Amino acid sequence: MPPDDFAPGAVWLVGAGPGDPELLTMKAVRLIAAADIVFYDALVGPDILALIPPHIERVGVGKRSGRHSKDQQTIDAMLVAAAAARKRVVRLKGGDPSLFGRSAEEMTALRGAGHVVHVCPGITAASAAAASAGVSLSLRGVARDVHFVTAHSRRGAALDLDWPALAAEGTTLAFYMGREAAGEIARGLVDAEMPAATPVLVVCNVSLPDEMLIATRLDLLALATRALAADAPTLILVGEAVGKAPSPHPAPIAETEVTYGR
Ligand code: SAH
Repeated sequence: MPPDDFAPGAVWLVGAGPGDPELLTMKAVRLIAAADIVFYDALVGPDILALIPPHIERVGVGKRSGRHSKDQQTIDAMLVAAAAARKRVVRLKGGDPSLFGRSAEEMTALRGAGHVVHVCPGITAASAAAASAGVSLSLRGVARDVHFVTAHSRRGAALDLDWPALAAEGTTLAFYMGREAAGEIARGLVDAEMPAATPVLVVCNVSLPDEMLIATRLDLLALATRALAADAPTLILVGEAVGKAPSPHPAPIAETEVTYGR
């Protein structure tokens, strides 16, 4: 018997993971099946949506950079209205709701309106990318710090990041929403004295059938991202640890040629 944790009018913010339905938690699958209505993001792909039983109402509130189909306040209001109508509400979010998922805003709006909200965690893109690449984000003696960084900025604005802190030795950086800012990321880090040859992994569509991994180095990052599809979710991992896949490991699908500095 499933636990009695989904009363009418309650809302669950559910992490959908990076895309592969097998990377959903068992709890997420149970909550999706028990919902009356599911609100989902653009990042939540068709294989996961296929798990929503056909009788359950589904509402896309997709947000992709540059193409915001609904603003956050509208989404908050839709969730509040569904909870007020005594529906069991699932808000399905890519990856983990607590990372760049606007979950705090939604929780505040719902709790402010007197509704019960719970969170079901999910596998974040950085964890899935490390798994696919066969690397460890932290690495004994190499990386004792892991930073999750958003590289999303208002159109045209420079990234407001503490580059010297990010460039410190012994760190692994996971840049979310960073494809368009790839050149700026590389410049910011190199100017803050991170070595130009620092290993970088660019990972698109991680865990999905069209996953792509590109192994490169910091000063070639902008070049490596140029050919990527504009709408593929892309994560950029930077740091010595991500260049240290324990061998033997299959080669990445693509490797940018390193000519710089020879
Ligand atoms: N809450 C999500 C992140 C949302 S922000 C999480 O925990 O993963 C959206 C960004 O996440 C994308 O721009 C990309 O950087 C990253 N991302 C999400 N899914 C991804 C995937 N399947 N492959 C690569 N990057 C992904």
